[in-house]
Amino acid sequence: MSGRVKGCFDSLNARWPWLKIALPTVIILVFIIRTLAPVGDSETVRLAPMQAHPAVPERPARSFEGKKLVALTFDDGPSPATTPRLLDILKEQQVPATFFELGSLVKRNAWITQRALREGHEIASHTMWHQNLARLSASAAQGDVNEANAAFVEAIGYVPALVRPPYGSINGETWKSFGGATMISWSVDTLDWKYRNTESIMNNLVNQISDGGIVLMHDIHATSVDAVPSVIAKLREMGYEFVTVSELIKMRGVSVEPSKMYARFAP
Ligand SMILES: [Zn+2]
Repeated sequence: MSGRVKGCFDSLNARWPWLKIALPTVIILVFIIRTLAPVGDSETVRLAPMQAHPAVPERPARSFEGKKLVALTFDDGPSPATTPRLLDILKEQQVPATFFELGSLVKRNAWITQRALREGHEIASHTMWHQNLARLSASAAQGDVNEANAAFVEAIGYVPALVRPPYGSINGETWKSFGGATMISWSVDTLDWKYRNTESIMNNLVNQISDGGIVLMHDIHATSVDAVPSVIAKLREMGYEFVTVSELIKMRGVSVEPSKMYARFAP
């Protein structure tokens, strides 16, 4: 230590003797807090095991022999204004669904995400901020996805196995930011966000539905939630059984690849 630096320490020591104890204590405390806080640390999140998650919850055995399958999916939530009412409907109807949620809203409304998971629904990622990933650099996309993953880890303890890029939009690089999660789009676009009424949702549903289909809706619109009882009744009448997207993948025996986006899992 140079004489000048030592002189400086000596004068500090003389003026504030408590610094000698306080400074090292603060440094040690900061170190301990950083080590103990796993959530929000991007390195920890990246290391979160992709396989060790309850994507397919335990359910009483049901027979799907000869049944047509459909997965209802809800994007852009969770919203305290509309999602709990949707969960009430799904619970009453005993219909499992898949929620593609925004990390930014999961952070604010973790209790809704936790409730959905508890009630047998699948939680999937719709990224953090709903950006068009095709227009982002690879590193910007990775930053968004990491932030979302951290929000999911904090709320439910794992990184979801499925992801839906906003607008179904990716490019040759940005899909890699999902780190192996399966990309899911949809085969039935209800356009519920555009034509906010049950009749239009039902028309699009009936015209586009097929076995193994994935139905796109948005749980942030009250009009979409209003339509759900009719959607369920119609699909039941047409002979469909409801499953989550991960259940659908499993039942159709598809070995998914991270570079592909899946719109439907046909028989
Ligand atoms: Zn969306």
